[in-house]
This record gives sequence, C-alpha cells and structure tokens, in this order.
Amino acid sequence: MKVNQAVKIRIYPTNLQREVLNKTFGCCRLLWNKMLAERNETYRQLKNNSEALREHKYKTEKEYKQDFEFMKEVDSKALQSTTRHLIEAFQNFFKGLKKTRKVGYPRFKSKRNRQSYTTYNVNGNIKIDFDRKRIKLPKIKTWIKYKDNRSFAETIRHVTVSKTKSGNYYVSILIEREFSITPLTKVRNTKIGAFDMSANEFLVGESEDFSNPRFYRSSELKLKKLHRQLSRKKKGSQNRWKARLRLSRAYEKIWNQKHDWAHKTTFRLANKYEAVILEDLNVQGMQQFNSGLSKSVTLDFSWYQFITLLKYKLEWRGKHYQEVDRYFPSSKLCSTCGYKNTDLTLAEREWTCPECTTRHQRDINASKNLKREGIRLLKEKGITVIT
Ligand SMILES: [Zn+2]
Repeated sequence: MKVNQAVKIRIYPTNLQREVLNKTFGCCRLLWNKMLAERNETYRQLKNNSEALREHKYKTEKEYKQDFEFMKEVDSKALQSTTRHLIEAFQNFFKGLKKTRKVGYPRFKSKRNRQSYTTYNVNGNIKIDFDRKRIKLPKIKTWIKYKDNRSFAETIRHVTVSKTKSGNYYVSILIEREFSITPLTKVRNTKIGAFDMSANEFLVGESEDFSNPRFYRSSELKLKKLHRQLSRKKKGSQNRWKARLRLSRAYEKIWNQKHDWAHKTTFRLANKYEAVILEDLNVQGMQQFNSGLSKSVTLDFSWYQFITLLKYKLEWRGKHYQEVDRYFPSSKLCSTCGYKNTDLTLAEREWTCPECTTRHQRDINASKNLKREGIRLLKEKGITVIT
C-alpha cells in the first residue's frame, strides 16, 4: 500500500538564507493577494453577467512576474504552487457551496501570520544529506542546517517551507511510502466493536458511545448570529465584506474542530478494536445526524468522511471494517431470541420482547444485532472470530 507521508523538520537558516526564504514568502504572499484581489474585483464587476464571469481570463503568474520584476528572482515552482493553491481554494469553496459543505472563502494572506511556500522536487533540486543534517532547497545556493534524527530512502515529492509567527523555520517534506500490511486472519470477539448510528449520540455501541461533539450546539448559535449580522449589512459595503469574512472564519474554525474530533475518534476506534462494524452509509442516517441543526447552518460532518478516516486507520493496522446493509432490521430484532418486532416505531426508544420478555433499549439492542450480523459477514470473508 502506498501512503503519502509528511516529515516535518526544523531548519536553522543563516541570515543570508533567511533573506532568500523571506523574500520567497513575500513574493508568494503578494502573488496570492494580487490574484485574489483580481478575482474579487472581477466578481464585483461581472456578478450580473455569469457568462462573462465564466469566460473571464485571469492574469497568469507570468504576467504578474512582468509587473513585479523581483518575483523573477525567487523559486518559480513556489509561485506556481501559489497559483495552483489559490485555484484549488476557490474550487473547494464552490464545491462546498454545492454540497452545502462549508469551506471558507479564500482569504488574503497577512505578513503577520505564519508564512509558507511549497516547492517541487524536479531533477533532484531538493536534496537531503542525512549524515551532515543539511537540506538543499531550490534557489538557495548553500545547504541549510536542520535538527532531526529521522532518515528515509524515498524520493521527495514536494516540500513546504514555513516560518511560524514566532520566527522559527520548518520544512515539511512529503514522501510516498510503501507499507506492507498483513491483515489479521483472526479477531477476538471482545475486540469487535459494533455501532449503531443515532442523531444524538452519533455512534451507539454495546459498551460505549461516541457522542456528538459538544461544539455543534454552541457553534450553531454563533453561526446563526453571524448570518444575521451579514444579512443586515448593506450590499457591496465594506462592512458586509467584513461580516462575510467573519462568517467564513467561523465556518473554517468549526470545520477544523470537526476534523480534529473525527481524527481523534477514529484513532481511538482503530486502536481499540480489531474489527469495527457499522451500519451501511445511508441518506436517512445522514439526515438523522443533521437533524439537530437548522437548515441554513447545516454543518456537514459527513458520515462519509468519518468512515473514510476510520477505514484507512483500520487498514493501516491490518484490522477490519465491516458494513452491514442498511436494510438489515437491526432495531426490530430481539437480540436475545431473534423475534422480529415489526410494529416498532421510530419514537419507541425502549421495548419489551413479547417472546422472551427481554427489556430492550433501542440503540443498544440494535448494536447487538449489528454485531451478530457483522460477525457473520466477517466469517464469510474467511476471518476467524475467537471468543
Ligand atoms: Zn426476544
């Protein structure tokens, strides 16, 4: 299996090297801001003429280089990446609008924030000398010292050079790694987690739940407030622009929080279990998950994203992910005797089995049934379940 991996190291550039790096940051920032301003201005002028807007040809980075001669002195790959990143940022933003997935509007880059640029390895113009702990970057004639003990044999794909607000320099090196993973052929019954999806609890299992992150509620209120503020501002005004900016920042922050939460939760699941069984991805479930939120601020924490993270984390560990068909009547079956309660409604959170008199808590009963069905499917794949 091939996996992209980033290795981040701290570098210690000399004053002269710093000068080149800072200049590159500056040029990339300038290019980004100029291109973004051009796009904003074009939109302002052509927003009522969608065809002209679509056909509009933006200035290329070559043209910008002619306007700003000094850009020619810095790493041209860094400028190319800047252009590409801006285009991607817009694409993500528009894609987000379509899917009601909120991605922030591209922002101007400030001198005061973290600085960075990305450059590519072409014909070995990026090199690392692991013995002497130094790295060679394009357009910098001398080697830059770094401190780190890791080494790797893989080819460098690209690097991102950055400078923190506090003035430390880092290089994040992206490499492609080949991993050999042997999937487990035996899993222990006690190490199988089966979870039912629920709007309030997110994942409900027999022995543990993974609740909806708490920030959902509070951020919904905040977003509502920001949406309200935006709608009150006069169209085209500076204040409206500012309000939109605040809103996109708020969305960005929530997105980051959600992403962080999803990573932590899937990490815990993948470490704890040898196999995870979940109900198949389905639209109804997604709606359930979103049901607590008003439509205007539907936060896309898609179930799909969560599953993607979980799958690859399990796969990395040679563990198993098992989906159970969405039509499997997990809530309606009695997990003790197998009786099917066809009359069970969505509103009934608890029920008693008429056959064996077991009292069921809806979601827990469902997760027990899911587990049984999931184990059956795992066995079908040739995986042994040890009790
Ligand atoms: Zn029963």
